[in-house]
Amino acid sequence: QSPLTDFRAAIRTIPDYPKPGILFRDITTLLADPIAFRAAVDALVAPYADQRIRHVAGIEARGFILGGALAHQLTAGFVPIRKKGKLPHETIRVSYDLEYGTDEIELHKDAIKPGERVLLTDDLIATGGTATGAIKLLRELGAEIVAACFVIDLPDLGGAQRIRDLGVDVRTLVS
Ligand code: 5GP
Repeated sequence: QSPLTDFRAAIRTIPDYPKPGILFRDITTLLADPIAFRAAVDALVAPYADQRIRHVAGIEARGFILGGALAHQLTAGFVPIRKKGKLPHETIRVSYDLEYGTDEIELHKDAIKPGERVLLTDDLIATGGTATGAIKLLRELGAEIVAACFVIDLPDLGGAQRIRDLGVDVRTLVS
């Protein structure tokens, strides 16, 4: 079970990726480990099993891998939040800040109905810019965001606190 699983050991750190000076936390090693992957999914869904989650919303691309597994476990639907230009139907869009410049993410306009209970997920939260954008999109459709969950939190960057300040509960496995 999850308390015995060393998630930290299952995550690989790559120095100077994608740029010099950046320590990239690589979760492909955790995803490839049968025990760690199941334990991570189990630990992330545990608090929400009885929370009547209607949809898990996952952020492209690693949030899709986790989100599909979480949705299956919760008997919820899965909703993708994608980089701009990838979703085929009518979308709503939000831009969010990157270290240099901005990017945009989109959500299908009809993906969620007002009042539906949503769990948001991604692999990692850093500054919280991406997740904040995702929360704006979900709220624009009237979603009730039950929580946002991530495998990794980088607490020095303050993202999890920014999400809590928006009134969304945050759960992470590794800091
Ligand atoms: P934020 O918007 O919170 O600053 O950055 C989080 C987003 O960038 C997430 O979508 C996450 O996948 C990606 N990201 C930023 N740094 C890392 C990292 O070190 N490892 C991984 N796996 N993703 C990262």
